[in-house]
Amino acid sequence: MDVCNWIGNKALKPQSKLWGIKVNPANEEIISRFAHSNNEDVKHAVSEASKAFKEWSGLTPIARGSLLFRFARELEKQKSKLAWCVSTETGKSINQSLGEVQAAIAQCEFFASEGRRLYTNSLTSENPNKTAQTIRVPHGVVGLIVPANTPIANIAWKIFPALICGNTVVLKASEDAPQLALMIGKIGKKSGLPAGVLNIIQGQGKIAGEALVLNHDVKCISFTGSTIVGMRIGEQVSRRLGRCSLELGGINSIIILNDADLENAIHWTLSSAFSNAGQRCASASRILVQDKIYKSFKIKLKRIAENLKLGVLNDDFFGPVINKKQYDISNQHIINLKKIGGKALFTFKNKIPKKGFYVPPTIFESINPNSKLLKEEVFGPIATLHNFKNINQALRIANNTNFGLTAAVHTNDINKSLYFIHNLRAGVVNINSGTFGSEPHMPFGGFGYSGNGAREPGTQAIDIYTELKNYSFTKI
Ligand code: NAD
Repeated sequence: MDVCNWIGNKALKPQSKLWGIKVNPANEEIISRFAHSNNEDVKHAVSEASKAFKEWSGLTPIARGSLLFRFARELEKQKSKLAWCVSTETGKSINQSLGEVQAAIAQCEFFASEGRRLYTNSLTSENPNKTAQTIRVPHGVVGLIVPANTPIANIAWKIFPALICGNTVVLKASEDAPQLALMIGKIGKKSGLPAGVLNIIQGQGKIAGEALVLNHDVKCISFTGSTIVGMRIGEQVSRRLGRCSLELGGINSIIILNDADLENAIHWTLSSAFSNAGQRCASASRILVQDKIYKSFKIKLKRIAENLKLGVLNDDFFGPVINKKQYDISNQHIINLKKIGGKALFTFKNKIPKKGFYVPPTIFESINPNSKLLKEEVFGPIATLHNFKNINQALRIANNTNFGLTAAVHTNDINKSLYFIHNLRAGVVNINSGTFGSEPHMPFGGFGYSGNGAREPGTQAIDIYTELKNYSFTKI
């Protein structure tokens, strides 16, 4: 199957005439070839988006919201097809994929309803005859760049707030989930989005992604991906003083205190560290357990973790990592952790499928929490287990990273909970659950290397996708 670009509501082959190959990570079979777009394709998409801007931004937000509600209904109708696509492109089970499609529908509905709000402020004035107010103005064409770890949710997280605000969109799809992005473009047309409002560019980051970032007609770039690429994009966009939202990597801790509910803590430790094969910016790669329960926690954790099931069936705990590159990075990290004295907590007992990029769940003990290796984000099902005596020691270990995305703490003590909430350097802190992110109405993002301070989604995303204009009337 050929996965084309989606420009002006039409599927178009790349002007480069080049194609990339997409394989199913669960069995390494080729499933499609996707357009390797170049600067000309990007220019074409940006030009179609520019042409569509006047009409789209001229609709009331409520009219745009009605179209997004139609979009949500269309996603609902195509739910099983979309889930099948997520599953084959990422190697997740159908149930997990259905959950992601549902999350995208919820995003769509939330931002569709924002069409009735898009609130701004009424302002007072020093002049008694003056009434002042702010209004929101869309940027124009926005460029959105996404990874493939939760592919449909990543797309939904960006396109719906951008569209409700009146921007037109050029989305650079992930090369690991091209077909899904094309499906979303087609669903946009079916829902009644005018041509040029939502355009999809396929291709490599360094070529198609960079062409989008460098295009001066793109007024705002919103990027989710690795910190190294995000830093480069931040620099490039700031050279033209464009708006830029960066949602980047994370190194996250789950902290279990002596008084925690052990069963609940183990449940959340496993899902925080291993769900989606550890390919989550919020994944808990550091497990910190207080001394009195360390031994019993470790025994229970080991017993469950070594027996987890890997595969693409609904009762499998997680599937493969997304591609061969990620597979090699994960395996190299395991080798490196062994080299610095890491002792594997268990040898994985269950079957690992012969084909596919499967990395077994791996937990290391005896690693110095200050080790340089623990400062690198890996994006695989690999975690380290650490023992701590008091809560300040736990805080030091958790905060000893350049990132600051999420953290979870397990305790029944409200005072200790609050101490962690105030002192953990993270954009999300969850008590008695996992290192998981947001719901559609909750802002997500982090400190330090985890981003540039932007928060998406939630109503905070509206601040990214609009400029504020202050106006006034003076009675004469
Ligand atoms: P990546 O940075 O390699 O790629 C992400 C996207 O950027 C892809 O579409 C890619 O083609 C594109 N890209 C790559 N180089 C580019 C360039 N020079 N210019 C423009 N675009 C370019 O990341 P990945 O490996 O696909 O995804 C994993 C990373 O994403 C992890 O670091 C993870 O933590 C992060 N992530 C963050 C969040 C968040 O909300 N903070 C959510 C999911 C993933």
